[in-house]
Amino acid sequence: MTQVAPGIYMRRGVDEDASASNDDAIANIGFIVGGEAVAVTDAGGSLNDGRRLRASIRRVTQLPIRYVLMSHVHPDHVFGAGAFSADHPTFVGHAALPGALASRWEYYRARTEAILGRDTVGPLVMPAMLVKDHAQIDLGGRVLELTAHGIAHTDCDLSAFDRQSATLIAADLIFVRRAPSLDGSLRGWLKELAMLKGAPAKRAVPGHGPTSVNWPEGSQDLERYLQVLQRDTRAAIKKGVEIDAAARTVGLSERNRWVLFDDYNGHNVLQAFKELEWE
Ligand SMILES: [Zn+2]
Repeated sequence: MTQVAPGIYMRRGVDEDASASNDDAIANIGFIVGGEAVAVTDAGGSLNDGRRLRASIRRVTQLPIRYVLMSHVHPDHVFGAGAFSADHPTFVGHAALPGALASRWEYYRARTEAILGRDTVGPLVMPAMLVKDHAQIDLGGRVLELTAHGIAHTDCDLSAFDRQSATLIAADLIFVRRAPSLDGSLRGWLKELAMLKGAPAKRAVPGHGPTSVNWPEGSQDLERYLQVLQRDTRAAIKKGVEIDAAARTVGLSERNRWVLFDDYNGHNVLQAFKELEWE
């Protein structure tokens, strides 16, 4: 774990896809220690990932784990939630998260357990505290401001801002170094990113890549990638390029700038194409 700011500990995820050898520990996950309680953000990609995070917390503090933030529906961020059930925390998510979990859980569970093995995911954990626009949680003299974002990386992205250290816990609203994955709306993501750039944060914690970047400078690569994706996809649509051909050609100027580019860019183009072709 790295302490990215006083009382904020993060574990860097590996720049890989989920595999049996990495326990789906591919996202940046961690915890925030207040005067009276701890908040987890996020819980990790498997029960093992979550259990290791819980052990890391107990090496730092014995304060109760009162909140577990679930930043969005993707398995690498929420499949560790079951590791915290015995702590009886309040699980917190975007108001759209329960619906997203309900519709995708079984598919994600089967796919992840096919890779990691049986019983690696644990029970479906639903958030009990739902955030519609903004909410606050208090860890004892340490307030986290939660924001439920419009459709962006997904349709259920939740970010947290720690006032005390001016740290933005952005989860997958920010990718650095590792290729972004678009599972919501390209235009929406650019809009939310523009808003996040105005946050009074000194640093941000991305969902993938380094555990801390200066803010807002740390948004530059993602913003450039999304703009290239938008510009090139629009140009392909205008020229009458077929969607599959576009997926092979759009965004290639970004290829050497991102790890796992070939695993994600084609899918991002398909998403962007379907969104932009009706403009
Ligand atoms: Zn994600």
